[in-house]
Amino acid sequence: STGDMKILLLENVNETAIEIFNKQGYQVEFHKSSLPEEELIEKIKDVHAIGIRSKTKLTANVLRHAKNLVVIGCFCIGTNQVDLEYAAKSGVAVFNSPFSNSRSVAELVIAEIITLSRQLGDRSIEMHSGVWNKVSARCWEIRGKTLGIVGYGHIGAQLSVLAEAFGMHVIYYDVMMIMALGTAQQVPTLNDLLNQSDFVTLHVPETPETKDLMSTPQFAAMKDGAYLINASRGTVVDIQALVDALKLGKLAGAALDVYPNEPAKNGPLFNDELNSWASELRSLRNVILTPHIGGSTEEAQSAIGVEVGTALTRYINEGISTGAVNFPEVALRSLDLDQADAVRVLYIHQNVPGVLKTVNNVLAEHNIEKQFSDSRGDVAYLMADISHVNVDDIKSLYQQLEQTTYKIATRLLY
Ligand code: NAD
Repeated sequence: STGDMKILLLENVNETAIEIFNKQGYQVEFHKSSLPEEELIEKIKDVHAIGIRSKTKLTANVLRHAKNLVVIGCFCIGTNQVDLEYAAKSGVAVFNSPFSNSRSVAELVIAEIITLSRQLGDRSIEMHSGVWNKVSARCWEIRGKTLGIVGYGHIGAQLSVLAEAFGMHVIYYDVMMIMALGTAQQVPTLNDLLNQSDFVTLHVPETPETKDLMSTPQFAAMKDGAYLINASRGTVVDIQALVDALKLGKLAGAALDVYPNEPAKNGPLFNDELNSWASELRSLRNVILTPHIGGSTEEAQSAIGVEVGTALTRYINEGISTGAVNFPEVALRSLDLDQADAVRVLYIHQNVPGVLKTVNNVLAEHNIEKQFSDSRGDVAYLMADISHVNVDDIKSLYQQLEQTTYKIATRLLY
């Protein structure tokens, strides 16, 4: 029952999540920071769910001790602090929050478009160093200018709407055909976008295809005096090619929020960063450099709490794994709770031939109302709602499923 559900929350995850779990009646243990590994191992032994951010490392060595763990929530974007494969093979689903900060990034980009267009960064640096420099030459309004969005996903599409409200003309390039919002227009190639845009902004994922997506030929294809904005991933821009384009005056400015190798901690930049991307960029005019803050707002933090908190609750209460990062995505409409003899079977198993035959033989003693299964790599997940189950049968049903050869984990909801 939900009252027995123990959830361990580390690293000060947002209170919006705690509220969600409290409302469910789960037993919540909350810590402001991460735990030393030994203590983590001790605590993870009997919890059903754990919520972390980027500092807690859930390695195979730690997860090995988690005997009751059902689900992991990463209250952040990244998931490489978790051994995802080990978790999946142990029947533990992992959720994160990839899209809760889309709006924050889109707003930052709007700010950067105006900042670049009006050379605000340089004026502010001059005033801070005691210089009054009132200029209008090559400062522009953004109204009527063309914004080229590369990657029209969560962030790109949100940005499209905001930019049109400022009177910009929006075009976009994406590998998928995506329906345009407002009066934006999709263009067939990246080059088409580059030749027409006054501002080019990148919102693609980090993939082998997007590595150095913007390099010397692409900068050459841009309009003279155009601007580049990158708040996607550091690998997408060839920094040396960008520096060259800025020095040549081909580009009138750039704003970067992400870099090829980023420091792990706040504080002065280290030599390897200074020797790679930072040194030349720092000396260039009208170049805005921010430390990967695109998604860093209070609103994004509370949205992460709600998004991951809701995903965990749905997985715990209903078995729905939609959005899991390491697991087959399986969902059925809600179990009919009015039907007193109904049970939802959640059966996670190795993805090998013959398993469902065995399992359906067990289930077939009852009435299978609906079922759905899917696999991902070595792991498969079956969800079935069955009825005509006597209370006395539930224990034997559970035991029969537990004894099947390729079982990873079984849960029954009733
Ligand atoms: P998304 O997955 O919603 O959208 C990405 C879009 O890019 C998709 O429409 C996809 O079809 C398209 N795409 C993929 N490969 C492409 C290619 N080779 N050429 C053209 N289009 C391509 O992602 P999102 O949530 O909008 O995020 C976009 C980027 O922003 C990601 O790299 C993400 O990591 C980054 N991000 C940065 C911050 C920050 O703090 N600066 C915050 C959140 C996200």
